[in-house]
Amino acid sequence: MINLLRGLQILRQAPKLEVRSVTINGTEVVLTLRRNIRCKRMIIRLTSDGAGIVLTMPTRASEASALRFVESSKDWIAKTMSARAPVVKFADNQMVLFQGRLHRVRASGGSRGTITIADQEIIVPGQAAHVPRRLKDWMKARAKRELTEISHSYAAAMGLKFRKLTLRDQTTRWGSCSAAGDLSYSWRLILAPSHVLDYVAAHEVAHLKEMNHGPGFWRLVLAHCKTAKESRNWLREHGRELHRYQI
Ligand SMILES: [Zn+2]
Repeated sequence: MINLLRGLQILRQAPKLEVRSVTINGTEVVLTLRRNIRCKRMIIRLTSDGAGIVLTMPTRASEASALRFVESSKDWIAKTMSARAPVVKFADNQMVLFQGRLHRVRASGGSRGTITIADQEIIVPGQAAHVPRRLKDWMKARAKRELTEISHSYAAAMGLKFRKLTLRDQTTRWGSCSAAGDLSYSWRLILAPSHVLDYVAAHEVAHLKEMNHGPGFWRLVLAHCKTAKESRNWLREHGRELHRYQI
């Protein structure tokens, strides 16, 4: 009996799993440390739901070395987590980003009318089945309107002119400026806070004068757009979230 109790105690004292938390991209994430006698080196993976991290480590490895390993893997973790983030649909009752704030989508029934926003809700007239298409068209139209207006105002302020402006859905860039003076932007910028959309417009319009990212280019951007730094950081941290929206 005594031996059995001692055995149980030892079992209890030998921690196979330890739970910690780490900060990834400003968000607290659960980290499970799993000690495995057969494990020769540290192996990191995401939990099956993609929301947590599991680190399998040799039994004798120290916790400090495990945390250092996690620290050095943070870029990989952040990238893998956002790639695994669930897809968001423009559908009735979904929470969607618009101008940096989450709104609930609500199909109001009825047959006509325009999409309106009230109290963190995006109200879409018509049946729920028509919400995805209507909302997508509306988002793109809003993006085009805002980007056109802001691009014109930066072009005027910088004394520059652009030829035409188009919206695209590229995964690798938020905007571009051709040598011929055509601007193009991702419609997804309308999901981001307004200062981010504003900055991307300032950035692309500045390329009409400076087709590079040299000091002259940044002087021009920073002279006209005060939130450039903050907006760049926002895109680095949250840009991938904007690509979770499936249309
Ligand atoms: Zn650029």
